Amino acid sequence: MIFSPEQYRVKDERMKPFIDIEEIEEFLAETKKPTKEEVERIIQKSLNKQRLNLKETATLINADTPELIKQIKDGAKTLKEKVYGNRIVLFAPLYIGNKCKNNCLYCGFRSSNKDAERKTLSDNELIKEIEALEDNGQKRLIIVYGEHDAYNPEYIAHTVKIAYDVKKGRGEIRRVNINAAPLDIEGFRTVQRSGIGTYQVFQETYHKPSYQKYHIAGPKKDYDYRLTSLDRAQEAGLDDVGIGALFGLYDWKFEVMALVRHTNHFEACYNVGPHTISFPRITDASGSNITDEYIVNDEEFVRIIAILRLAVPYTGLILTARETAAVRDEVISFGVSQIDGGTKLELGSYAASQNEEQNLNKEQFAINDTRSLSEIIEELIDKEFLPSFCTACYRLGRTGEHFMEFSVPGFIKRFCTTNAILTLSEYLVDYAKPEISEKGWKLIDKELRKLDDEKVINQIKEKIEKIKNGERDLYF
Ligand code: SAM
Ligand code: SF4
Repeated sequence: MIFSPEQYRVKDERMKPFIDIEEIEEFLAETKKPTKEEVERIIQKSLNKQRLNLKETATLINADTPELIKQIKDGAKTLKEKVYGNRIVLFAPLYIGNKCKNNCLYCGFRSSNKDAERKTLSDNELIKEIEALEDNGQKRLIIVYGEHDAYNPEYIAHTVKIAYDVKKGRGEIRRVNINAAPLDIEGFRTVQRSGIGTYQVFQETYHKPSYQKYHIAGPKKDYDYRLTSLDRAQEAGLDDVGIGALFGLYDWKFEVMALVRHTNHFEACYNVGPHTISFPRITDASGSNITDEYIVNDEEFVRIIAILRLAVPYTGLILTARETAAVRDEVISFGVSQIDGGTKLELGSYAASQNEEQNLNKEQFAINDTRSLSEIIEELIDKEFLPSFCTACYRLGRTGEHFMEFSVPGFIKRFCTTNAILTLSEYLVDYAKPEISEKGWKLIDKELRKLDDEKVINQIKEKIEKIKNGERDLYF
């Protein structure tokens, strides 16, 4: 039986909303003007691998002098370098359909936007999109859907299955994540059975009065139903979830606090934090009309990422092509662990001509980083970041991998770096242009020299030889 949001709440009292506006505001008010020493102590706590509490997070948010901001950015950079190393996981978003019952004022897909050209990919079109993504070398997708009866759990599961089934040449999709409307428990179960990785739902703004201003029609009007959606996912056995806030709708300071509160809620209730946190900044969308009162500038954006890195040190941070190449390049060193590459948001556009201009009436919003996957990989290699398409933990059932990366000594070197090297090797053999390939192998040599265990180095070299001889999907 499927329950409506109201029936659902009556049925399950466990899933109570957990954001307390006053509590967050009090923490922000009582931590004004922190000293250098206080900030240092908090950064050290994070470097000692402990998550920050709400008061400590508020203190970092209130640290707003240039000197303290630099201290926080340096702390985040040290944490990223020490704990996570230099690998960056790459993925691509895939938009399946833009029909939508909701009317989110900031989104090009909203029901009142008569300029939006509504479309759902047919199975055949979907297959063509996935083939085009595989031809580029992508291995990880996040599939995105509007909220509509047509995109029910069975349909989502159907499209996930197609994504896993399509194999073109040596290409295949090894991890399919989902960004879709909240479901009920049965719905989450159906989607989980299709073998998805992470289920992402962004709260957009955690500030309820603001939420109600922006979400004026459709099921998404119900703040509490959305806030508790990932609790229902947990209940359905789907424990790999991603949270996020859309920055620009309300005060960024409140949203950062709420993201940390949401993380604490998961840890307290399920003993595991969210897999990832996203922090998209609002960008232009067809017909949208959002005031710039809460617009987050680049400087604040960098602070947000550095603070989140320190506050939730073992959670993956996702940065998307909504940001310009310049911003992306700057913030990557402060703790971002995943970025999308070669992104196209227009439905069906991966398979269409590569040179088409962006068309806002067919997209959800504008993207600012239009570099191809190949260009992004080249730039990462030039800056000595290690591009990774690794999907090993999830496929080996090593759940909570971000936590392990963070807390198990040597985990990153033993698994993450080695698997990044192997997936980059596949990319270099199968898809890279000769000049990128040359740079890529040099980087791999350098990375191998950094690993101190001869046995492991030899195991990786053996696997690389196998890849050169045609074997695929080798991992530790
Ligand atoms: N319809 C589902 C939902 O709303 O959760 C999932 C898909 S929605 C297309 C994915 C996310 O895009 C939203 O959660 C929102 O944060 C983001 N988004 C919407 N409009 C945006 C805009 N103008 N700029 C940046 N991100 C936007
Ligand atoms: Fe629909 Fe999601 Fe866009 Fe809102 S954000 S209008 S729910 S697609």
